[in-house]
Order: sequence, then structure tokens, then C-alpha cells
Amino acid sequence: MTKPPFRRPTLDTRRPTPSSTPRWLTQLLQWFSIHQRPMPWRDDPSPYKVWISEIMLQQTRVTAVIPYFERFLAAFPDVQTLANAPQENVLKIWEGLGYYSRARNLHAAAKIISFERNGQFPDTEKDWHTLPGVGPYTAAAVASIACGKTAAAIDGNVMRVWSRMRGIQEDISTSVWRDKARQDLVRYARKCNPSLFNQAMMELGALVCLPRNPACSACPLQRACVAHRTKRTDIIPFRKKAAVIPHRHEVVLIVTFETSNKTPRTKNPRREVHILLRQRPHTGLLAGLWEFPSLEMTSHKMAFSRKARELAKHLGVPSEVKLVKSTTVEHAFTHFSQTLHVFQTKLSSPIPLPSTDHRWCTPSDLENLPLSRSQRRIVNHYKSTS
Ligand code: SF4
Repeated sequence: MTKPPFRRPTLDTRRPTPSSTPRWLTQLLQWFSIHQRPMPWRDDPSPYKVWISEIMLQQTRVTAVIPYFERFLAAFPDVQTLANAPQENVLKIWEGLGYYSRARNLHAAAKIISFERNGQFPDTEKDWHTLPGVGPYTAAAVASIACGKTAAAIDGNVMRVWSRMRGIQEDISTSVWRDKARQDLVRYARKCNPSLFNQAMMELGALVCLPRNPACSACPLQRACVAHRTKRTDIIPFRKKAAVIPHRHEVVLIVTFETSNKTPRTKNPRREVHILLRQRPHTGLLAGLWEFPSLEMTSHKMAFSRKARELAKHLGVPSEVKLVKSTTVEHAFTHFSQTLHVFQTKLSSPIPLPSTDHRWCTPSDLENLPLSRSQRRIVNHYKSTS
């Protein structure tokens, strides 16, 4: 089926622009009506689509989100389908997008909407805020874009645009600054269509008012912008230096054994590889995802190979079995970064499962189970070398 062409929402169709509207605001909305990027949720801004898109857009770029959004909508076209799906299916569709708590919260919120609210979506900013995974920004964005409510959605782009526009040289990461900005922005959202206002501010921050080298000559706010006029775009927005994030090392062990259906009469015996995986706990970081067994390095004095041997012993791998260094994978989370030192070992026969969280998987299971991005990289390396 061919997709209908993208329709640009017309300028303020739901609320007439009052005569007291400042010039910069009219120019901003005009700029948005011409320059906004087509996005699959913009053509039909239903609460379900806008909510999914806003959750996906947290910490993630629009270009990365679009294919995930389309895949997600194809798998879960409405909130009931999402609520009834097993969590593992939701995590699988989310795989690669990162920040998996977003997927788990989305799933939990879909159950609340379907089973506790009889399929009724919230209608106000306050009501959206009660759902799991919906913070102040997302509540304001969905309430304004999908429900037409007056609210100010303040993300990083909007903070940058607004602090430059007003020439505010304060630390914008404080809640005091954010509350003040929210009060100001709500006043302007009230003067026009809040959906278009919020989207226009975010789009301007994403396309024109860039963190470095803002394109002021192409900006509809140029004449009103204090930072531009006073040549301070390089020092505004001002933020306190972020603390150095810690780095962790972990050893990871790929434990495998092979089976074969070979008998004296089998012409082409089939060999099958079995790989030991474990599921992460159902709460906390990467909850519910599958991974290779691992152990964190608590002392930097110990050699990685010795730590891998300790992990092998913990899993029940016989001490005479050789461990081979396979690869190293680097990964960064928001609050820490890590290096995974991957080792591999081939058993001649299976060992008992170390706990009920572990299972033996086939290579095709590896494709179907939800894994984090770093674990997927280990799988890809394993497949390319075995
Ligand atoms: S004039 Fe420049 S600094 Fe001011 S809002 Fe526009 S792009 Fe940003």
C-alpha cells in the first residue's frame, strides 16, 4: 500500500492568533510551517502515535527513531495490542534503540491505559504525567501535540533556544531556571497553537539554533535574540561542567558445546551449537534482556584472564577447559562507560545450568531473544569468527 503524502499542518488552525502576539512568535510559526521535517507521527498526531514517538525520541535522534517507530507501529498498531503483547516481544522490537526502561515503561503504561482506563488515553499534562516513563517534558509534549492543551515542552533544544533568545547566562540545568522558563513559555504557548509552538521551538533548536555555530542568519528569531545581538551565542547556554563518568571493566564468557545426530547410518550428520545465556533481573539496568554470563572487575590489579577463569569456575566449567580471548567491546551508558573483555570456551559436553536464569540457546535463538546493543556486537563477532 502506498503511503499518503506528508501534509504540513497549517499554521494555527485550532486557535486564532491574537493581535498581541509578538512578531518573533508569528515568524517562528511561519518558519515552522515551511521548514518542519516530515515525520511519520506528524501527519496523524493521535495520542498513541505521539506518545510512542516522544518516548522513543528521549535521548535519541529523529533519524534513528523513524525506522523503529514504523516497526513498532507495524507490530503494535494500537494500545490494546501493545498491552496484550509479552514483554519479551516489546523488548525485541526495541532492540538496538537503547535505554530499555523506556520500552518496559511503555508496556506498563499501555496496560494501565487498556485495563484500568478502559482504553482511554489521558487528556491533560497532569494526567499524562501519572503514567510510567512519562516525565514533565513528555507529558507537556503529548498533551499539547496530541490533545491541544496549553503546556510548554522543555527539552535540551528548547532550553538552548530560549536561553539564547533571552540572553540568560545562568546554569540552565537547575530546576529553578527550568520552572522560570516553563512559566515564560506557557505564556507564549497560550497566545497561539501550543502544539505548533512546542514543535516549532524544538525544530528550531534541532535545525538552526545548533549547540555550536548556530545558523543565526537563517533564524526567524534573529531580531529578537539577545545572545545573537550581544554576540554571546558561544557562551550561552551556560552549564556547570558535568562530573567525570566512571569506567567499568567486565569479563564476559561465551560457553558453547556441540551436539550431533551422527550414527553409523547417517550420511550427513547435523551438528548443532548450544550457547549459554542468562536473563538479567526484571528490575534495574537492561532488565529482562538476555546476555552472556559476565563478572565485573572489582580490582584493576587482577589480570582479565584470571577473572575469566573465576567466572568459568562460578559457572561450573571444568578447570582443565581452555579459555581463549575473543574480542573487546566498548560501550557507553549515560552514567558510566564499560569495556567488555570477551573470552570463549568450547565444552565437550554440557554442564548443569548454574541457575534458573540461565539457558542453553541455539544460534537462531540468539536472533530472536532481546539483547542489548553491546551483547548484539558480541554475537556478531562470535558468528563472524565461528
Ligand atoms: S538568532 Fe541565533 S542564537 Fe538566537 S535563537 Fe536564532 S539561531 Fe539561536
